Amino acid sequence: YDDRDGVIWMDGQLVPWRDAKVHVLTHALHYASSVFEGERCYNGKIFKGVEHSERLLRSGELLDMAIPYTVEEIEKAKYAMLEANGWSDAYVRVVAFRGAGEDMGVSSSRNPVRMAVSGWEWGAYYGDAKTKGAKLDIAKWKRPSPETIPTAAKAAGLYMICTMSKHAAEAKGCSDAMFFDYRGYVAEATGANVFFVKDGEVHTPDPDCILNGITRQTVIGMLRERQVVVHERHIQPEELEGFQQCWLTGTAAEVTPVGQIGDYNFEVGSLTRDIADAYEKMVRA
Ligand code: PMP
Repeated sequence: YDDRDGVIWMDGQLVPWRDAKVHVLTHALHYASSVFEGERCYNGKIFKGVEHSERLLRSGELLDMAIPYTVEEIEKAKYAMLEANGWSDAYVRVVAFRGAGEDMGVSSSRNPVRMAVSGWEWGAYYGDAKTKGAKLDIAKWKRPSPETIPTAAKAAGLYMICTMSKHAAEAKGCSDAMFFDYRGYVAEATGANVFFVKDGEVHTPDPDCILNGITRQTVIGMLRERQVVVHERHIQPEELEGFQQCWLTGTAAEVTPVGQIGDYNFEVGSLTRDIADAYEKMVRA
């Protein structure tokens, strides 16, 4: 992805895509001192852009890493990058990380915190799953406890087991992996939250050790507006058998129906389709 045309915002400046580089002694590369955001711009407007910038700053705080930009400055950087590339529909990736400093080691008090804003054109995250329903593997790794790692941060370190689990899933012909958490409850996919439908009511994991996704919160609001009962609670794996519909939510995934998790099957039902369509309309409104 490094050798192509385009413009990236880096540490306050727009630079040619090929020049947006870091040194190998970048702290983040060795110690995962990095937080990021994934956003989507639709028709020239980033959906919930401010919420994403706020979450980025919060993630930085959770890692004890002060990001030297305000929400307003981050917003400006995103739109400057989009405009420079001529994009009105794109995925936006903001990353803030500890760079290379005067010395190298776990302690990084003397390393600068850097930020880059890039983007690319990105269609449906799960390909044709939007109509057919995605097939998910069950990850062998568990989402960790909030006492082990700051699970509310969108931090690079939390994604190590996501890449491993997604690779294992792809090797079995699945689009993604579903994680259970350290207690055994159903948690989230490698880059998306999960919802289930049973007898017209919706069940979704409590966000007590998973990312409380911005799309997740948006979709819960849409459901409650429709007078659909939503239960945010701990979900046991054995319950998967009794759920009739399932979907994933995420900025990249949007609302994607799920047809299968491990040996459990779900139908792409009317509530799933209704929410997926309504979400698509909302982000473009
Ligand atoms: N969980 C994980 C692990 C994710 O990476 C994402 C994508 N950011 C989500 C959930 C969904 O979050 P959002 O709706 O804010 O994109």
